[in-house]
Amino acid sequence: MAIQVLSASLANKIAAGEVVERPASVVKELIENSIDANSEKITIHLKEAGISEIRVIDDGDGMSEEDSEKAFLRHATSKITYDDDLFHIKSLGFRGEALASIASVSKLTMKTSKGDKASTIINLEAGKLLNKGKGDARKGTDITVSQLFYNTPARLKYMKSIHTELGHITDLINRYALAHPSIRFEVTHDGSVIFTTNGNGNLLQVIRQIYGLQVAKNMVDVSKTTNDFHVEGFIAKPEMTRANRNFMTIIVNGRYVKSIALNYAIIRSYHTLLPRHRFPIVVLNITLDSILIDVNVHPTKLEVRFSKEKELVEVIESMIADKLKQLTLIPEIPMKREKKEKLEQREFSFSHDRREDLNHQQQVRDDNVNQTEQAAQNETFFVKEQSLDNENTESIDKKAEREPLNSFEQSIVSEDNQDDKQTRIPDIYPIGQYRGTYILGQNHLGFYMIDQHAAQERIKYEFYKKSFGKPDQEIQQLLFPLTFEFTNQEILNIEKYLEQLNSVGLYLESFGNNTYAVRSYPTWFPQGLEEEVIRDIVEQVIQTGKIEIDKIREEVAILMSCKRSIKANHYLNIDEMKTLLTDLGRTSEPFTCPHGRPVIIHFTNDEIEKMFKRIM
Ligand code: ADP
Ligand code: MG
Repeated sequence: MAIQVLSASLANKIAAGEVVERPASVVKELIENSIDANSEKITIHLKEAGISEIRVIDDGDGMSEEDSEKAFLRHATSKITYDDDLFHIKSLGFRGEALASIASVSKLTMKTSKGDKASTIINLEAGKLLNKGKGDARKGTDITVSQLFYNTPARLKYMKSIHTELGHITDLINRYALAHPSIRFEVTHDGSVIFTTNGNGNLLQVIRQIYGLQVAKNMVDVSKTTNDFHVEGFIAKPEMTRANRNFMTIIVNGRYVKSIALNYAIIRSYHTLLPRHRFPIVVLNITLDSILIDVNVHPTKLEVRFSKEKELVEVIESMIADKLKQLTLIPEIPMKREKKEKLEQREFSFSHDRREDLNHQQQVRDDNVNQTEQAAQNETFFVKEQSLDNENTESIDKKAEREPLNSFEQSIVSEDNQDDKQTRIPDIYPIGQYRGTYILGQNHLGFYMIDQHAAQERIKYEFYKKSFGKPDQEIQQLLFPLTFEFTNQEILNIEKYLEQLNSVGLYLESFGNNTYAVRSYPTWFPQGLEEEVIRDIVEQVIQTGKIEIDKIREEVAILMSCKRSIKANHYLNIDEMKTLLTDLGRTSEPFTCPHGRPVIIHFTNDEIEKMFKRIM
């Protein structure tokens, strides 16, 4: 077959294959055009998740009659002119192919005016101009795309359910609303309003609109400026997590982008503050010189290339890490012994509520301010008391007599038979604490360092796992319903999986306004974590299409153990240390915490003597 140049309509259809994958791609291109046209308000009306109709109305610059036709030519754009412009892209669009592509696979009507003259109305079908007319002079552009893919049946067949397609669209609109808090967005689906923002420029308010009040309350602002970058936005406190990565939004020069490198930077900066398989909620707006970013990597422009990616990663990582340090690691200097003990006892109880926790932390902070001076003194006193504790020394010696020196592991086995209290570690006698974080201990086998937080996580994890493990189907009725806010996208899925949710004892009742009420839940849901459990179950069913209650229990046990465990920088007295070590000994896996980190580090007597060159 001889080579021939493709007709414009065929070329556009081919291009559409790349740019217009599904209704959400159309919404993306139209919104981007509206933003580029300096719109202050963008209204999006959807029918059947955009499969039958997508209408985007803006109050932007609009187009002249001449331009309104040109806009549908392939490679027709008002956004770049010269080769060099490609390296300084300031607009969201620049390829000049979106309208041509969309028009080639749909029936399209556009009404547009610059506000000075009557508007131009044009109708196209499969990219061909059908007719042209005039309408009112409202400034802005109003585009209706109907019967998407009507002439590309293969693509149409590929469309997923209404839920899925609408989910893609709402996710996309959410991201653009986050990227442009100064633009008013309004979205309707089959006639009802499903999302609005007020366009007052307040990002936190947009976050609230999308993720709900609870999330918004737990977000803190971050910002950092260097010679090359300005980054600002909001990050969630580490206790507010989600089970997937979709709650991280990165915006570069007003464009929502996906960047694996930056996502990792965010996750890394939370470091050990996040339980395993939990992800933060983050919205970051990055501004940089357009020379530093290549947006022409992918037709949909979702992926971009940064020329100083390593530097940007460092800026983001340090910005978030610094903020989190400020939030969580306010150094706790030891306080007066009396008060300290009283407070610590409360920390150890399983069932005090969170408000108490907060009050407690605040009190500790207040105390610290005044008592820095006394601290050193108290510490000496503390250490002295340990060394005088000869009860410990005695029992170590006695034990040493009873037992031959053997290895740590062997002793685990032997300890197992020693008495009926089953334990996998030998008795360790606490001799003090290092930096309020590690318990130091000894026995005839050597010296031990125990990470107190990890130890308690392990203990509590096994406790909770056991208590959740009983497969009772009992339901707890609530006097006052719990209410939960979900994102639009989540709501679509909740509706889809309502029956599955019912099957595990979860009845979500729509309350409107992105809110669901729960009037009862299975009794195994741990108090204070009901919302997390419900969210985890919802997220699991959304991600995997099924609910595996065992996995949820496991995750919740980890979450509980982490939340309810003493943190680093917390001083313990000898009795508390002893209790902790005894409880640890009773767990089935005392050597690692539920996140897989080590709990105990052991130095054998030999190792220590070798270090001091007493033996070679
Ligand atoms: P690109 O956005 O890459 O330039 P498009 O095919 O999306 O290409 O749009 C072509 C041109 O049509 C744009 O460059 C712009 O001049 C014009 N245009 C499209 N949508 C709008 C709109 N909502 N308001 C004003 N002008 C628009
Ligand atoms: Mg465009």
